[in-house]
Amino acid sequence: MLIGKKISVLGAGVAGLAVARALALRGAEVTVFEQADAIREVGAGLQISPNGARVLHALGLGEALSEAGPRAEAVQLIDGETEAQVARLELARLRPGAEYRFIHRARLIDFLAEGAREAGVQVRLLQQIDSVELGDHPPRMITYQGAEIESDLLIGADGLHSKVRQALNGTIAPFFTHQVAWRALIPCGDDAPNIAQVFMGAGKHVVSYPLGRGLRNIVAIEERRRWVEESWTLRDDPMTLRAAFEDFGPTVRGWLDEVQSPWLWGLFRHPVARAWHGPGAAILGDAAHPTLPFLAQGAVMAIEDAWVLSEALATHDTSEAAFAAYQTARRARCERIVEAANKNARNYHLSGLSRTLAHTGLRSVSRFAPAR
Ligand code: FAD
Repeated sequence: MLIGKKISVLGAGVAGLAVARALALRGAEVTVFEQADAIREVGAGLQISPNGARVLHALGLGEALSEAGPRAEAVQLIDGETEAQVARLELARLRPGAEYRFIHRARLIDFLAEGAREAGVQVRLLQQIDSVELGDHPPRMITYQGAEIESDLLIGADGLHSKVRQALNGTIAPFFTHQVAWRALIPCGDDAPNIAQVFMGAGKHVVSYPLGRGLRNIVAIEERRRWVEESWTLRDDPMTLRAAFEDFGPTVRGWLDEVQSPWLWGLFRHPVARAWHGPGAAILGDAAHPTLPFLAQGAVMAIEDAWVLSEALATHDTSEAAFAAYQTARRARCERIVEAANKNARNYHLSGLSRTLAHTGLRSVSRFAPAR
């Protein structure tokens, strides 16, 4: 049912660009609407686990993926204070042949945007959508300037504060987890081992891995009473970050000394959306199932959604049937992953490393992926 259908995708993040290419390759006429003035380099590192890599290959983007970041070899859990290794998981042994990569979000966005344009997708920037109207008329977006945009179908890939999710579900209030994450990039030699290292302590941990092209990704998590905004663009004083981890060993302290201007991100829990679709519209990615970063599955779940949604629309006679099949295929899996990430949020921070090891990780890691 996709040939010649006019589809609007709201949001040019990972979900929006992936679904736009997937739909265009199947014959739809796709336009992506994005509020930013450019698809620019924002964000830090992401992990692409084999479930996401498989979809990128199926979308014809395998080569771009392999050029975008190093292949991950292992995950290592380490005592943050003594730097003693607690456990090590060899990814190649876990799933031989499976592709697991560390990648800068900007590089992923770059090749997804190029892939979308190459498939014929139009990308319209500076289009901030104020509201969405669904009903017995074609789905409609209204911009802040008051312009109305109608299309045959509307796909909401508009992230955490999604207007399409709001139109489908009303307002859902997230709650603060009392954890904050600093994110930063620092220089890194190209000979650094391609390992995700998790340095754990009581009430905090640091995750780090190399991204290739001379960069290392740092994510530092701390439990905290005070509320912090849920934002991808808020900056913090690096001294605050250093002070929080001053009892950690020399490796982490050395990395944090190199951090110039970290982003600070308040971690909130959002329920998985109840309704993923309505008249002429569906949601995917963070718009449907925002997740905490402790399983590194935010981006790859969005990529999986893009594949399943486009496949459903290509193989069902009506959009209602396609959207229902998509929600059935995806919702339970996404709920399980979101819940596993929530559990890891608690487990990484139990006081006492032995309890931490007993509860974390390795089982969840092997089922899905390690912490971001
Ligand atoms: P998002 O990546 O949030 O994309 C949503 C897109 O929709 C954005 O481009 C946004 O500008 C656009 N949009 C939203 N509302 C409107 C509106 N009303 N009108 C028009 N456009 C709208 N994850 C990490 O693991 N590490 C990172 O360093 C990291 N950095 C990030 C930086 C930014 C700026 C963003 C937006 C996200 C970042 N993420 C990061 C999150 C990660 O990309 C997502 O969790 C995951 O990829 C799912 O993406 P998504 O496409 O569903 O949502």
